[in-house]
Amino acid sequence: PPAFSQPMFVRRKVEGVRNLIAVGSGKGGVGKSTVAANLAVALAKLGYKVGLLDADMYGPSVPTLLGLKNQRVYVDENNRIIPLEKYGLKVLSIGFLLPSEDTPVIWRGPMLMKALTQFLFDVNWGELDYLILDLPPGTGDVQLTLAQNVQMDGAIIVTTPQDVALADVRKATAMFREVQIPILGVVENMAYFVCPESGNKYYIFGKGKVMEFASQYGTKVLGSIPIDPQVAEDSDKGTPVVESHPESEVAKAFLSIAKLI
Ligand code: ADP
Repeated sequence: PPAFSQPMFVRRKVEGVRNLIAVGSGKGGVGKSTVAANLAVALAKLGYKVGLLDADMYGPSVPTLLGLKNQRVYVDENNRIIPLEKYGLKVLSIGFLLPSEDTPVIWRGPMLMKALTQFLFDVNWGELDYLILDLPPGTGDVQLTLAQNVQMDGAIIVTTPQDVALADVRKATAMFREVQIPILGVVENMAYFVCPESGNKYYIFGKGKVMEFASQYGTKVLGSIPIDPQVAEDSDKGTPVVESHPESEVAKAFLSIAKLI
């Protein structure tokens, strides 16, 4: 039987955080970090107190997405890390502790896991309505350590409509089920492209597959995000599209998903 069917772990709650929501994906490159960052900014715009924790320890992208590259964090008088603040969010990433953005994290598992739990529990988050966790892709050590040690309120799974992405998302779904973290739903990213000339929608990676997956697996699609070159451009510039182009179709899609979580 799977090890997790026994409740052998005591899951700690992150003090002061009302909703701890993990954003995961089956594989890399589907836009998980982009979705996590934009949903966090969208929730802040809705008036909530929000934190964003980059738990993608080997490939942190939150510093780039939020224009916080080469920033450093400090500790308060109680030795608790003070998160950075940007776009109304409290933000923490392992990137803020590395000597430079090109420095790889070469820690072994146990040290990484210690750092990760410190990122949750030894941080001066203050009072938060939502703490959004940008997980690494897949179903590895980080996800399991978090599931064993931390009380999480829900998970959002990001996928694109490609078959390769959907194959892995089934595994991610099974993992969250196994560790008994409620799945709030699936975000379909890069769902379609709106031609700027004609306004026609093109379902580049196929239509309806994510919806089909969700109903098969007893979950729901929280929303579909179009492919928009602006998303990538704004991310590279360090301003999430919800912040820089709030009137765009893609920003509105993020805002309507934020209202559902
Ligand atoms: P992951 O966290 O899953 O590895 P990222 O969030 O880093 O993925 O996104 C991968 C790339 O795709 C980035 O260059 C990002 O800007 C781009 N991207 C993500 N979502 C969209 C979208 N809806 N439209 C256009 N580009 C996107």
